Amino acid sequence: MNGDLRELYQEIILDHNRRPRHLHAIADASRRVAADNPLCGDQLQLYLKLEADRIVDISFEGSGCAISIASASMLTERLKGKTVQEAAALFETVHDLFTRQPPPDVTEDLGELGALAGVRRYPMRVKCATLSWHALKAALSDEPPPAAVTTESERGRS
Ligand code: ZN
Repeated sequence: MNGDLRELYQEIILDHNRRPRHLHAIADASRRVAADNPLCGDQLQLYLKLEADRIVDISFEGSGCAISIASASMLTERLKGKTVQEAAALFETVHDLFTRQPPPDVTEDLGELGALAGVRRYPMRVKCATLSWHALKAALSDEPPPAAVTTESERGRS
């Protein structure tokens, strides 16, 4: 990655951290999952409002490091209006971005999420970046979903 791109990526992350998108509760949310990364102190709540199989509204609340907040902010921005199937596919793409060996290419359709790709070099930070995504997966997968997910509940989870 060249220096200009790295600077751009840092700027994207800092911007999402300074002005998180969709940072509020949804009173009539269909799903609400708390996500906790005790190793860093990131604590988020993810809210989804579903109509049929579409995410008509999505938001989050909480506090954490810049990586966790930026990742959650990008997640909500990307998935508002998308279907549950599209959200599940994006979860897999993002998960691959952080964990697959060898690393997948950072393609243009990742958009701003590409800014998080460099995080994979820092395993502690990967937990920050994936926290909201694990909350998303929990919110989409179970009926009813678990009330909370944590980075430390499963051996080897990333
Ligand atoms: Zn963190």
